[in-house]
Amino acid sequence: MPLVRPKLGASSPTPRAPSPADIALERAPFGISLVSARPESYGTYIFANPTLCKISGYSMEQLNDVTFRALCHADDFESAKETLERLKSGAVDETDAELRICRRDGSRIWVRQRRSVIKDAAGAPLFYLSHTEDISERKASDAAINAARSIAEDALRESEARYRLLADHAADMIVCTRADRTRSYVSPASQRLLGYTPAEIIDLDFATFLHPDDRERVQAEYADFLVTGGASTHTYRLRHHDGHYVWVEAHWVATFGATLAKSIACSVAVSVVRDISERKAAESKIASMARHDELTGLPNRVLLRERLEQARTFVERGGSAAVLSIDLDNFKAVNDTLGHAIGDALLREVAERLQRCVRQNDTVARLGGDEFVVVLLGLESREEAAQRGQSIVERLSERYELGGHQVLVSASVGITTSPRDGMFADQLLKNADVALYCAKADGRRACRLFEPSMAAHRQRRLDTEGELRDALADETFAIFYQPIVSVASGAVVGLEALVRWRHPVRGLVYPDEFIPIAEDTGMIVPLGEWVLRGACRHASQWPAAIRLSVNVSPTQLRSATFLDAVCGALQESGLSADRLDIEITESVLLQACDGTLAVLNELRRLGVGISLDDFGTGYSSLGYLRSFRFDRIKIDRSFVGDLLQRAESEAIVRAVIGIGSALGISTVAEGVETRGQLQRLRSHGCSEAQGYLFSKARPAEEITAMLAAFPSPQSDRDTLASA
Ligand code: C2E
Ligand code: MG
Ligand code: MG
Repeated sequence: MPLVRPKLGASSPTPRAPSPADIALERAPFGISLVSARPESYGTYIFANPTLCKISGYSMEQLNDVTFRALCHADDFESAKETLERLKSGAVDETDAELRICRRDGSRIWVRQRRSVIKDAAGAPLFYLSHTEDISERKASDAAINAARSIAEDALRESEARYRLLADHAADMIVCTRADRTRSYVSPASQRLLGYTPAEIIDLDFATFLHPDDRERVQAEYADFLVTGGASTHTYRLRHHDGHYVWVEAHWVATFGATLAKSIACSVAVSVVRDISERKAAESKIASMARHDELTGLPNRVLLRERLEQARTFVERGGSAAVLSIDLDNFKAVNDTLGHAIGDALLREVAERLQRCVRQNDTVARLGGDEFVVVLLGLESREEAAQRGQSIVERLSERYELGGHQVLVSASVGITTSPRDGMFADQLLKNADVALYCAKADGRRACRLFEPSMAAHRQRRLDTEGELRDALADETFAIFYQPIVSVASGAVVGLEALVRWRHPVRGLVYPDEFIPIAEDTGMIVPLGEWVLRGACRHASQWPAAIRLSVNVSPTQLRSATFLDAVCGALQESGLSADRLDIEITESVLLQACDGTLAVLNELRRLGVGISLDDFGTGYSSLGYLRSFRFDRIKIDRSFVGDLLQRAESEAIVRAVIGIGSALGISTVAEGVETRGQLQRLRSHGCSEAQGYLFSKARPAEEITAMLAAFPSPQSDRDTLASA
């Protein structure tokens, strides 16, 4: 079949002017072609415009020898053939397909071909009219986009898988929330944190998990966060499946969708929820420790102050309160003699007893050592406060059974009331302390209500403490001696050392005013050693028949240096040990432990005598006379003083002398002021006597002269009998 030659572009034997249709065909920006649809020439090119030549790379002449099949890419041929068939059969009027064509140079390009079929009058297909557009550039960019998309999708898939793995295995619970507040993801950590699987939890309302105390706050924070976005950390409690609450720290992060303005609402929120129960427990333990005493579990000073603040509010509203300052009178002795474990057990028992003495709204606090404070609310009167204080004194002074030991301690209580004595914590605590000081100064095991005049008393005591310290450094003490006389012979058999303080303003101060302070502050130890050394030195100058008596307090005896101090004083002075007599009171034995008894026994072994001073006062247990072998019992001057007036006193004096003689222990009557008393004592068989009848205590320098006034030890007993 002859090729229908293109009208344009080919050389014509008789050139004619191009028609508008020629121009349109030549300049059309897309290829136009006619391919035969007749059976005899099917698929051959009949016409192609220059643009199609350019697209295909074939000249018009070359296209004469090219079939559509040759031009079409093998992979696209079947579908192209099918479209042609459908056109030919009339199934469709027009087709539009993208396919690749093989260019003459071997390259392939993508084209878009729209085809229709041209039929003859009888309806038989003549040609396929094709409209071909080079879409290779678009295809290239599509391919590039697709490639990039695929890479991105792969990366996204990988990243999703990675994050899923992380989220699924994270120890923290991860929750993703959509903008509508529904949850899109809950990590499996929910099971461990809250006892729910992610599936169980994903649709539950957040608010129902929140602790009632946190609910309002956290909901407000969350609403705010959903609007403002960003990242923030929040702490709250969530209810566990089993009902308990778990402290969590949640890190909320909001991400905004590209199309959503931040100001509208965040599109996705992620919460990373961490279990901080352990940290919270540790924090609350620390907080509790900061406010409680470790040993007893009672409120400490910090919490006490808060309670006093609350008490102030209570008082301001018309109520009343009392602050009780409580101190054990001889706690140090228990600690020193029985050890810290027993001391601690004692403090715990005191704490328990105190708690049983108060009502629910009252406070019992421990400030340290054996210092306790009780705050009582809603008292009717000061008398009621005093009664409650007194009952605390009595309750705490009852015997304690601790680790197999029976322990006796007493307590003193100082009370201040509010609003009468003040409103503020500092003032009330100070007043209660002042009252406590007075209770102690008044002989302990006592309860005192604060009076403004007490403050001056306390100040005096504080001043005394300071001055006493100076006096110790400056050695402004003096040792006076009072004779102890043989009832039978009237001769001086001993001299008791009694310390005096030469105060620059107050003059000569007596031991009752400073020994208790020295005891409380521990100054008694150096003071006692000073007395011991000085007295031994003086005594070494006296006639050999005269012994030296030195008073020793419980604190001294417990001090680790005491035995060395005695030996040192004896050695230094050259005084023989059997001329030294140590006077101790029952309080020493009251808290006696193995250590104290060992010291006393060691002294005895050295030849030092031991006297039981002030017998008849205090507990006066005859058991003490069995627990330690005393050389002398000194009958307290309170019995001797009214010996002649009160039958009871005489009976006691007689009984003590009787016990002494039965046990082979000498008896010394203290405070003998009259001859009558002396005669009565003699008639009852008392061995020795001491008192103003013979002499008051005199300074060391007067001793020689004083001794001269007494019969010598060898003198006839009648000398005294005639006195
Ligand atoms: P004490 O050991 O019972 O001493 C006897 C006290 O009775 C002395 O009081 C003495 O002056 C006083 N006294 C003696 N005869 C009479 C009398 O006829 N009538 C009256 N009303 N009183 C008389 P002082 O010197 O004031 O000592 C008081 C207490 O201080 C002593 O009681 C003793 O327990 C203690 N003390 C004195 N010096 C020392 C010391 O160096 N160390 C220690 N630890 N305590 C001491
Ligand atoms: Mg004495
Ligand atoms: Mg005495």
